Amino acid sequence: MQITSSIETLRQWLKQNCTQNGLTGFVPTMGALHQGHISLINRSVDSCERTVVSIFVNRIQFNDKNDYNNYPNTLSEDLQKCSQAGVNYVFVPDESVMYNNHKTYIDVTDLTDNLCGKHRPGHFKGVFTVVSKLFNIVQPDMAFFGRKDLQQALAVRKMVCDLNFPIKIIICPTIREKDGLALSSRNVHLDTKQRERALSIYKSLMLAKKMILDGTTDLDLVCASINDFIVQNGFPESIDYITAVNIDSLEPVSILDQDSAIALAANFGSVRLIDNMIIYTDGDTRCDL
Ligand code: AMP
Repeated sequence: MQITSSIETLRQWLKQNCTQNGLTGFVPTMGALHQGHISLINRSVDSCERTVVSIFVNRIQFNDKNDYNNYPNTLSEDLQKCSQAGVNYVFVPDESVMYNNHKTYIDVTDLTDNLCGKHRPGHFKGVFTVVSKLFNIVQPDMAFFGRKDLQQALAVRKMVCDLNFPIKIIICPTIREKDGLALSSRNVHLDTKQRERALSIYKSLMLAKKMILDGTTDLDLVCASINDFIVQNGFPESIDYITAVNIDSLEPVSILDQDSAIALAANFGSVRLIDNMIIYTDGDTRCDL
């Protein structure tokens, strides 16, 4: 496995290697790697001839300075995990490499109007800008994103289509702890009590799943039940949103008559957690949880 912080070096390595046949897979990350990230890497290693992972904590996507300053850094363990998973190249740029007198930003409209887009001003602009830059640097054939960050993954897919990046976006399932909490680099900041309270997110989605499979089609009612469950069992510091949306447009939906997702964000202590459940309606109603 080769590791570099230099765009030029990475490009040279890839140029030499890409004269051989086969696809290049890419997994962009902010480090503090867990099994969620590794599942994306595994998917890339299985589908592509070579896999590139980037590790870069992208300051411009953080709307909360403390969140950025406290973002976990576990680089040596991350590199070990990448090597064990069969990654070929790790790109670890520093900020001066990525943003040198930077003036250009990318945005995706409509898809970012609600959910996290509404609650984290500037966040997605930072995400799309760094992802575009990384796509141009790595020039992969396929890039792998997690469904946990559903809005991000769908908007990146739209950006790739609109800006004609020749890259296939693969969206991979959410990986969870044994008890159901979605893995997140920020989970390390939860103390024992907050960790217990945070589990109310997963449990509330399981309750929603039961309501839906029992025949409830009123998604406003389902979201209200999720809210009540989290408030009564998780005592969150705050809930940013609990919203049912169309799975393609991410526009809010009230009745379950199309493939939908219920997405939510809630704060436990200073930790903001997100999760979602997808509900398919073609034929039988099914949930991905
Ligand atoms: P991050 O390092 O948080 O920017 O995440 C890098 C990638 O890992 C993104 O595509 C995330 O959606 C994905 N990811 C994060 N957590 C999970 C998880 N629990 N399951 C699957 N993918 C995840």
